[in-house]
Amino acid sequence: MADDDEYCAPAPSTAPRPTAGPPFAECVLCRKPTEYPESYRGSTLCPVCEWQEAQRTACSG
Ligand SMILES: [Zn+2]
Repeated sequence: MADDDEYCAPAPSTAPRPTAGPPFAECVLCRKPTEYPESYRGSTLCPVCEWQEAQRTACSG
């Protein structure tokens, strides 16, 4: 009984490599890759700068 050949077949290699994500936009402040795609409209901030901006806005007032 060797009917598990199909079960053990490797997955098709059509999926892109998990390490190579889509091209991300650069942070407008520190030039680090952000979580926004390159097609994102507007200023893109990396998580760090985004957090700092949020802190600055929160402290104004
Ligand atoms: Zn940044």
